[in-house]
Amino acid sequence: MALYIVLLGPPGAGKGTQAKVIAEREKLVHVSSGDLFRENLKLQTELGKLAQSYMDRGELVPDDITIAMVRERLSQPDCTQGALLDGFPRTPAQAKALDDLLATWGSRINLVPYIAVAPEVLIERLGGRWSCRAEGHVYHEKYNPPKVMGRCDIDGSELYQREDDKPETVKNRIRVYMEQTAPLIAYYRERGLLVEVDGTQPIELVSEQLLKAIAKVRS
Ligand code: ADP
Ligand code: AMP
Repeated sequence: MALYIVLLGPPGAGKGTQAKVIAEREKLVHVSSGDLFRENLKLQTELGKLAQSYMDRGELVPDDITIAMVRERLSQPDCTQGALLDGFPRTPAQAKALDDLLATWGSRINLVPYIAVAPEVLIERLGGRWSCRAEGHVYHEKYNPPKVMGRCDIDGSELYQREDDKPETVKNRIRVYMEQTAPLIAYYRERGLLVEVDGTQPIELVSEQLLKAIAKVRS
């Protein structure tokens, strides 16, 4: 049976960090809508150019564009056994579109871990975030430093700080999250899919709790 997991939480909660650990341990494909947009931007595709203006301002890319991009990614053969979604869905319309898409494949979302972190912690988290150019591995200069500053431990590629991690943009991203994405917490709770995890714990403890929740839905 395919397994679809949606990682929910504000920007900086640790979704990408946890997704890398879980995808590897659970042999799931990590689908990050933010990474897909950044890849398009790097390749200067029409989609990438269009998304850039929204990303630079910390706004959401319109639903129709985002949904089409994720639908296309989930339709690839490597996702037939399911996927670990990170950063999607981010609006009620995206959540509905995902439910409908999975239903056409006779599937559904199995689990929605919500990584809870208070807004005041997020600015420091994102201000100190360093991301790897090759595969989006994430580090923090204080909480999860790489062995060699500026280099990814895993693939050796360059680490960079994202334009949209500047405090002014981060504040807007948190506001957008509160308005447009936070309603999904209730949406998934009502469907019995939500498992809340305290995202202020050390990275390894968060991973442990997520892996336990996944083991439960698999059994
Ligand atoms: P998201 O994908 O939810 O935006 P990230 O996984 O990129 O968040 O994490 C944001 C920043 O916080 C990164 O610099 C990461 O190293 C750091 N981080 C992630 N989880 C924790 C944690 N549990 N404690 C402290 N810092 C963390
Ligand atoms: P992330 O890497 O998840 O922090 O996303 C970076 C940026 O990409 C966001 O601030 C949005 O501009 C855009 N983005 C990523 N995922 C979505 C989504 N599901 N819906 C709309 N915009 C998105």
